[in-house]
Amino acid sequence: MNNLYDVNNIFAKILRSEVPCNKILENEYALAFSDINPQAPIHTLVIPKNPYINFHDFTKNASTKEHESFWTLVNAVIEHYKVEVEGFRIITNSGNNGNQDVPHFHIHLLAGVNLGRMMN
Ligand code: 5GP
Repeated sequence: MNNLYDVNNIFAKILRSEVPCNKILENEYALAFSDINPQAPIHTLVIPKNPYINFHDFTKNASTKEHESFWTLVNAVIEHYKVEVEGFRIITNSGNNGNQDVPHFHIHLLAGVNLGRMMN
């Protein structure tokens, strides 16, 4: 584990079942659940089950199997909501400049409405 990883962040608590979540799907290495403060009709978070701080940490240090499981689950959520054709947006925030609030790597999957242009 990255020694800067905060084991008490809210997603770590969700993974330990100390805090509830609205689970959408999971597999061996990843979990998808609804964002508590949705910014679109569909707003799902996908997180790895192992402790990675952000995109760079995950991409650099996760195993091939973890990468495969993570992106497979993202695609499974896309198929779950049947938004392959109408579209969606995937966002990951990292660090202070990215305004990342929860220091456990996650992607936001937003869909269900036209999301407008980026950075309005
Ligand atoms: P970030 O700014 O780190 O990219 O996004 C963190 C996201 O986590 C926010 O969209 C926020 O609404 C969501 N969030 C924060 N606390 C909780 C929680 O306890 N449960 C769930 N499901 N989402 C949370």
